[in-house]
Amino acid sequence: MSDCIFCKIVAGQIPSDKVYEDDEVLVFHDIHPFARVHFLIIPKMHIATLSDCTSDQQGLLGKMLLLAPRLAKEAGLDTGFKTLINTGRGGGQEVFHVHIHVFGGGDPVRRS
Ligand code: 5GP
Ligand code: ZN
Repeated sequence: MSDCIFCKIVAGQIPSDKVYEDDEVLVFHDIHPFARVHFLIIPKMHIATLSDCTSDQQGLLGKMLLLAPRLAKEAGLDTGFKTLINTGRGGGQEVFHVHIHVFGGGDPVRRS
């Protein structure tokens, strides 16, 4: 997917502030955080939306979801956090490469 921003981040063509990486998943801070901590969990493979996932991605989606509490805790969100998956145009999705928003901790802090 040559015109997908998140595929470019996976490929290292666009820089990102990485939180976690393995062979299947990449996690990085959102460029426009809406909380003090706000990162995105994405699969390395291009899948446009949650609606495009099939049972083939059951394990991958489970892995992504289970990373949320682990990485949220590591980011200092000891008392809890929010998750969000915008799906499709009607769901407010802007980047069509499936991702889980994980955020919490009050007002965003500007990153330079
Ligand atoms: P969506 O609305 O698709 O659920 O969320 C897309 C998110 O990706 C937005 O919160 C936006 O700030 C973030 N985003 C878009 N482009 C980039 C980028 O180039 N780098 C990073 N780190 N985040 C991005
Ligand atoms: Zn992509």
